[in-house]
Amino acid sequence: MADEPGLIPGIYIYCDRWCERCAFTSRCLQFRIEAEEVEHGNALQNFDALNMKFWQEMGKALVQAMRLIREIAAREGIEPDDLQKETLFSEPPESLQRDARKHPCANAAILYAGMVNEWFAAVDELSEGEESLLTHPPPTLEEPIQVIRHYQYFIYPKIVRAIEGRLSKKEAAGSEIEDDVSGTAKVVLIAIDRTLAAWSVLYGEYPAQEDSTLSILLHLDRLRRSVEVVFPAARAFIRPGFDR
Ligand code: SF4
Repeated sequence: MADEPGLIPGIYIYCDRWCERCAFTSRCLQFRIEAEEVEHGNALQNFDALNMKFWQEMGKALVQAMRLIREIAAREGIEPDDLQKETLFSEPPESLQRDARKHPCANAAILYAGMVNEWFAAVDELSEGEESLLTHPPPTLEEPIQVIRHYQYFIYPKIVRAIEGRLSKKEAAGSEIEDDVSGTAKVVLIAIDRTLAAWSVLYGEYPAQEDSTLSILLHLDRLRRSVEVVFPAARAFIRPGFDR
């Protein structure tokens, strides 16, 4: 099966494991194997083109998110150049060579996951309805909420994996490990970008939550920049299928 024409070797190594939203199910061996196991054949393949469009739209929302973050920063008197330098680190990131789970990026990812739960709980508390926003979102917000929920607990383990890879590289130098580190960090950055885009959609919808939505946006933006500092080669990493 692996030799079938059209399949992209290794595409599943640096993906986000969100097959329902993937634009490459028809070209992914991993998807093919899993689909055969659960006997739903090629059910998702027809959605590849739709999913491609979905992520293109989310790309536009990311531009909006970045504009929003710059506006918030300007309101707080932060110059654009200073904003670009803001990270999570109070010491040089290269000195943070210890337990990956205690790395500031990992801590920030855990903190973010908690902020999401608090945000949704606060919205539910203020809502007059009986149903939770998470389980019964309005149709227009279904997709951004799906994005937020998919990546909420995805970012932390991927950050830990990338940092662990970086630490192990010190002992066993090799370009394969470095590539894996960069590929994993790139998936983290994409997850953060998409999550920022989704939060920017929710921002205008819940004025009572404006402050906490802004905190989330700023926190994620800082995490995004910090990951870029720790893994400078990540953005340029070319993931099989997705980036070429
Ligand atoms: S590449 Fe796409 S289809 Fe394959 S495992 Fe990843 S998300 Fe699923």
